[in-house]
Amino acid sequence: MLALVTAACFFLQIGLAATAFCYLVVILLFALLDSFLASGLLTLLAVAALDFFAAPPLFDFRISDPRDHLVIVPFLLACLIGSGLIQQARSERRVGPIKPSLKSNDADLREAVKQWQQVFEHNPVMYFMVDPAGTVVNVNTFGAAQLGYAPAELIGQSVLGVFFEEDRDFVRQCVALCLGTVGEAHTWEIRKVRKDGSVLWVRENAKAMLRADGKPIVLVACENITERKETENALRQSEAYLAQAQELSHTGSFGWKAATGEITWSKETYRIFQCDESEKPTIPFMLERIHPDDRLPVRRATGYAMREGRDYDHEYRLLMPDGAVKYVRAVARATRDAGGSVEFVGSVSDVTPAKEAERRLRESEQRFRDYAETASDWFWETGPDHRVTRVSEHPETAGMAPSWAVGLTRWDIAPDAALQPEKWQQHRAALDAHVPFRDLVYRSKDRNGHPTYVRTSGKPFFDANGNFLGYRGVCSDVTADIRADQAEEALRKAQTELAHVTRVTTLGELTASIAHEINQPLAAVMANADACIGWLQRSPPDLKGARRSVEWIIEDGNRASEVIRHVRALAKRTDIEMVPLDVNRVVREAVTLVQREMATHAVSVRMELKSVLPNIFGDRIQLQQVLINLIMNGIEAMEGVTDRPRELVIRSDPDTNGSVLVSVTDRGIGISADTIDRMFTPFFTTKSSGLGMGLSICRSIVEAHGGRLSASPNEGRGATFQITLPLHQEEAS
Ligand code: ADP
Repeated sequence: MLALVTAACFFLQIGLAATAFCYLVVILLFALLDSFLASGLLTLLAVAALDFFAAPPLFDFRISDPRDHLVIVPFLLACLIGSGLIQQARSERRVGPIKPSLKSNDADLREAVKQWQQVFEHNPVMYFMVDPAGTVVNVNTFGAAQLGYAPAELIGQSVLGVFFEEDRDFVRQCVALCLGTVGEAHTWEIRKVRKDGSVLWVRENAKAMLRADGKPIVLVACENITERKETENALRQSEAYLAQAQELSHTGSFGWKAATGEITWSKETYRIFQCDESEKPTIPFMLERIHPDDRLPVRRATGYAMREGRDYDHEYRLLMPDGAVKYVRAVARATRDAGGSVEFVGSVSDVTPAKEAERRLRESEQRFRDYAETASDWFWETGPDHRVTRVSEHPETAGMAPSWAVGLTRWDIAPDAALQPEKWQQHRAALDAHVPFRDLVYRSKDRNGHPTYVRTSGKPFFDANGNFLGYRGVCSDVTADIRADQAEEALRKAQTELAHVTRVTTLGELTASIAHEINQPLAAVMANADACIGWLQRSPPDLKGARRSVEWIIEDGNRASEVIRHVRALAKRTDIEMVPLDVNRVVREAVTLVQREMATHAVSVRMELKSVLPNIFGDRIQLQQVLINLIMNGIEAMEGVTDRPRELVIRSDPDTNGSVLVSVTDRGIGISADTIDRMFTPFFTTKSSGLGMGLSICRSIVEAHGGRLSASPNEGRGATFQITLPLHQEEAS
């Protein structure tokens, strides 16, 4: 072989190095086949051949060019080292497997089987051998023990017994697959049930093999992966919790590798961006979703965070495909990966509801501000010491709202504090008790120092821990109302005075009547006194007759004194006294006083009084004054009447709508339409000696009773005056 290579290289003139390389290949091949000694000898032969045939001068063992040594020496070394290594590898392989000695006896064989049996039984892998029917043919002790059984309990039983009912079909399929592909390995993961019912997760490695008798058997090796499965389940569960928490809080999470632009989103982030989970989020997509007005600020903020490796926290809007606008807040923490590139991990929250609530709050605040600024009232706030801390001031209340009052208490401001100590004591007690107060009216002054009246209400306010912070409330200027009330009160007083004066005047006019009313019983008293003396002078004195006379005297005396009492009551200046009254009695008493006046003027009176009338509520004297006035006017209206009887009719009737009607009808001169409008105005009179105050006073008295006084001409002659008086409340209800 070496000679063949030498001849070929010589004739081809391929040079010293190439020839050396060819020799090297041949020698290494030889080393693979034979011993190191043989290849060593061959190497020496090759060196000689190289020197003789390939190194100049040719056919000579001398070497003229010293550089040829640089080829021959490495060649020699490469051949020796290569052959040595090959030799070593060959000897190692030879020592490897111990071939069972053909001379081994039965005892050795049994020993080997026993050893393998030990390995099989106690190897920490579960081994099962299952026949095509699914019956366990063999199981190692470790495998059975893992399931809580002894091997004997499983051998001969169906392997399905250690699987869950619902997994058994899968097991059957797996066994069938192995049997259908004899010699091929298959792997799957499945749960097994221990004897005590607990679960064992295993990865099964199975392969069907043909036994010596040609029947197949399935060999299964199982690895316990329960711990890994439990960790996986726990992880899955915590991921599910996280996803749920994200959904509930409308907060998704994201990761963003700035260097590669790779973005990962959680499920909730996909939902917030309304993006399909199958799509990979990208920066262009996100920018497209961001509201056009917010794109630039977002790019700037994230660009800066990316360059500087800074955290960021910003809010922006998303414009959804349906045109809806969403507000989101993105918060990210910047970290650096192993290569120093910036990575962000952050959260993105849908803050639309919060923004909406904030907007509504702002709107309602603005609404209240508008109300407050256009109201004529003003608002104040006081601190825990009841000193004013704040007063709203706006153009409408300018001048009223006392901004100068800041720092003062209400009673420092009010000039009536000293005059009405009780009112202020009560108010301060309410403030100290921290209870709300309503409609406190007090005197104040505007910023020009002019006196004003203020009505205020307030309620206490507290901090979250219930500590009292002060009061807030509203004030209104009630100066005009108070002045009106004061004027009304003055008018009422004047009217009462006037009514009194006119009453006294009327009484003056009625002097003759009154004297007559008193004279009549007095004359009767005198007559009865005379008669009494007569009865007593008899012999024997007629005591019975005398007694009867004295009784009549007493009766007449009472009648006279009643008239006097009545006149005195009318003449007296009394305050109005509202009591439940029987209208018929008021009418009769009034008629008594004018009886004589009627007689003098040849006027007859007819009283048509309803016997059962509900009480009204009023002042007896004032109502009698009204009636006397109307009766006197009626008498005067009939003064010149000669062609018909001068008759006055006084009626009382219940009214359907909860009041009592009293009317005075005369047959006098009557009233024209023109007079009707004016007769109730003060100082309107058609009489030469008239004052023109009577009807106006009557109307104000009736109206003060909540009633009405009206006049109308009769169908025939004369006029009718009608009084409507509301019932006493107890009667009405
Ligand atoms: P005076 O009786 O002092 O005139 P009044 O106010 O009582 O004042 O009456 C005002 C006017 O109303 C009378 O002057 C009269 O013209 C008219 N008047 C009042 N009562 C009657 C009546 N019964 N019939 C016709 N006119 C009347």
